[in-house]
Amino acid sequence: MLEARIDLAAFRHNVGCLKKIAGPDVSLLPVIKADAYGHGMPRLARESLKLGAPMLGAGTLEEGVLLRQNKIAAPVLLLDGIFPEQAKDAVKYRLTPVVYTLEVARIMDKMGKKAGRRISVHLKFDTGMSRLGFTLAESRPTLAAVARMRNVHVEGIMTHLASSADADSPQTENQLRRFDAIIAEAGRAGIKPTYVHAANSGAIIAHKRSHYNMVRPGISLYGAPPVEAKGFAFQEVMTVASRLVLVKNVPQGEGVGYGATYITPRAKKIGVVMGGYADGVNRLLSNKGSVVVNERAVPILGLVCMDNFMVDLSKAPAAKEGDEVVLLGGGYEETSVNRWAELTGTIPYEVFCRIGMGGRIRRVYVNG
Ligand SMILES: *Cc1c(COP(=O)(O)O)cnc(C)c1O
Repeated sequence: MLEARIDLAAFRHNVGCLKKIAGPDVSLLPVIKADAYGHGMPRLARESLKLGAPMLGAGTLEEGVLLRQNKIAAPVLLLDGIFPEQAKDAVKYRLTPVVYTLEVARIMDKMGKKAGRRISVHLKFDTGMSRLGFTLAESRPTLAAVARMRNVHVEGIMTHLASSADADSPQTENQLRRFDAIIAEAGRAGIKPTYVHAANSGAIIAHKRSHYNMVRPGISLYGAPPVEAKGFAFQEVMTVASRLVLVKNVPQGEGVGYGATYITPRAKKIGVVMGGYADGVNRLLSNKGSVVVNERAVPILGLVCMDNFMVDLSKAPAAKEGDEVVLLGGGYEETSVNRWAELTGTIPYEVFCRIGMGGRIRRVYVNG
């Protein structure tokens, strides 16, 4: 009954915005990890390729394999990197790993020798986030060692920015300065990568200098850029809708939901919505969030249950059983992903990723 409508026209529009921002000399690597931030990875992979993406950004090896099983033959970058024991499958499925340990680089070299071809990798450098990557101090010996590996092709050199959504943070410039030093070091080691990349959505919009020759947009593809892009109106791609499964009149003084955290101050018309926290409707929306019924924002009453939640239909008096309920998206302020994130103490990324985790939401692609 719950449905996530994925508007492919909005996705195309967002890719168009990003292409304009990045300009013609910069390639776009659409990041479709985590099931395309909950939007459905195989479908958005195909859509991205139709729009000319030279490569796709998956997260784990398993995601890369899933793309291959969906007959996607294009280059796939495994942004999370791989464990040593996954190298065999990475080569078998022709997936391009991000490499941040010499151990994995050496294994890829051996695998390449066995396979009789050079294995493409992207080397990742930690320029100040303390996450994945060789540090600046490690860069010289690392690049020298990798340059000697005859069966490894360094197709890319990359880093990741920690504060890119903040246009004024000095951290981005500090990281980019370190990255520039690493790129120069790679040149001295004789490494000529096809792609040099650093920018996620925040950096694409707020730090032009971080673009190099490829950018890696994720959240902005789905219509929720982490920073305003002046002159560009990104569009929400996902709308999550359900229906009223029951409408009832509740007398004054009745408890609504578990623990009776809401007591009707007067007689009220209440709707029971199909869908609950098992579907990603965060329990923190209890007594706080709103959904939209018949174009009207109506508040959630009581605690969100696993499979249902209740809403106050006072502002939508004509609502009846079977009517549609917009939970997320749909172009309404009250159900925007930013509002959800604000009310639940998180970021749009997590809202998208949680939606449908229970596996009960039917995904429907529109405007294909
Ligand atoms: C997820 C991810 C991105 C995309 O980031 P957004 O903020 O969603 O644009 C880019 N690069 C790497 C390495 C990532 O893991």
